[in-house]
Amino acid sequence: MHLKALTLRGFKSFASATTLRFEPGITCVVGPNGSGKSNVVDALSWVMGEQGAKSLRGGKMEDVIFAGTTGRPPLGRAEVSLTIDNSDGALPIEYAEVTITRIMFRNGGSEYQINGDTCRLLDIQELLSDSGIGREMHVIVGQGQLDSVLHADPMGRRAFIEEAAGVLKHRKRKEKALRKLDAMQANLARVQDLTDELRRQLKPLGRQAAVARRAAVIQADLRDARLRLLADDLVRLREALKAEVADEAALKERKEAAERELRKALQREALLEDEVRQLTPRLQRAQQTWYELSQLAERVRGTISLADARVKSATSAPPRNGAAATPRTWSARPPASASRRPSWKRPWRRPNAPWRTRSRTAPSWSVP
Ligand code: ATP
Repeated sequence: MHLKALTLRGFKSFASATTLRFEPGITCVVGPNGSGKSNVVDALSWVMGEQGAKSLRGGKMEDVIFAGTTGRPPLGRAEVSLTIDNSDGALPIEYAEVTITRIMFRNGGSEYQINGDTCRLLDIQELLSDSGIGREMHVIVGQGQLDSVLHADPMGRRAFIEEAAGVLKHRKRKEKALRKLDAMQANLARVQDLTDELRRQLKPLGRQAAVARRAAVIQADLRDARLRLLADDLVRLREALKAEVADEAALKERKEAAERELRKALQREALLEDEVRQLTPRLQRAQQTWYELSQLAERVRGTISLADARVKSATSAPPRNGAAATPRTWSARPPASASRRPSWKRPWRRPNAPWRTRSRTAPSWSVP
């Protein structure tokens, strides 16, 4: 396994992007105390998925982000990329060179990438676990760890040896498989419980299903019956509508006939009114004539009365100077045929005559 390069940007004391290129063989980082040598090792652990802040010599994970100096403000994110030469296919991935990247933001968000593609932490751990490097492997021996190896008890030493031999990976897989088996066992027990419960519920459910089927049949019958009733109603209403339409047509015809009659009557009324207008002057003349004739008749009656009175006085007085009274043979009365004239020929006697109520004034002259 050959690490080709490590790039740090905003990680601990590496504020600016810094790339370390590792050539085949041994690479030494030399510098005075506090110059940041251990930060390079921390960056290697961190990019390979280290989750413990203490392992990175910090109080919390945000401490890995450049915290600023007197001459430079703090940064909001830390980023480390590790490029691994995979030309020998040590990593189970189809690339000759693999770059894994870890980014962390000060607000707590983080991101992992393999060759620029975003991925999960688990993907990176899986990728590196087969190679013998990774978070739990003891390929990184920090300050003071050598001492703990040398002073370890037999069990501790066994653990170190197992890890160095690559047994740890399989042990972890075994533990994981056992955990899965336990979970599966629990799931199986739950399924068994559920099966028992369902079996218990099966009988009442069967009864309910039978009832539901019967209900469905009854509902279907009910729906059919309702539909038939509605169809009957529809037919009846259609017939009623037809009859109504026929009645309406007949009424329309009657109405049109009545309107025609009305128009005719109005025309006739207009004609009659014209006629009345034309006859009005003649009527007035006739009235005038009738009035004059009435006056004349009055005068004639007066004359007749006067003549009768004179005749009477002439016949009753004794003859003067011995002259024999000569009986008069004439009469001032009009012939009987005149008085027996039928009433319809006497317009001034006609009942309902419009001029009947007119007051007659006495003639302005008198008969001698
Ligand atoms: P030694 O040889 O004593 O172990 P070293 O060279 O390994 O020292 P480191 O411990 O890697 O040095 O680096 C420590 C330096 O990193 C300190 O100067 C510290 O201020 C700086 N440092 C650590 N964390 C941060 C951070 N988050 N932001 C800025 N600087 C940091």
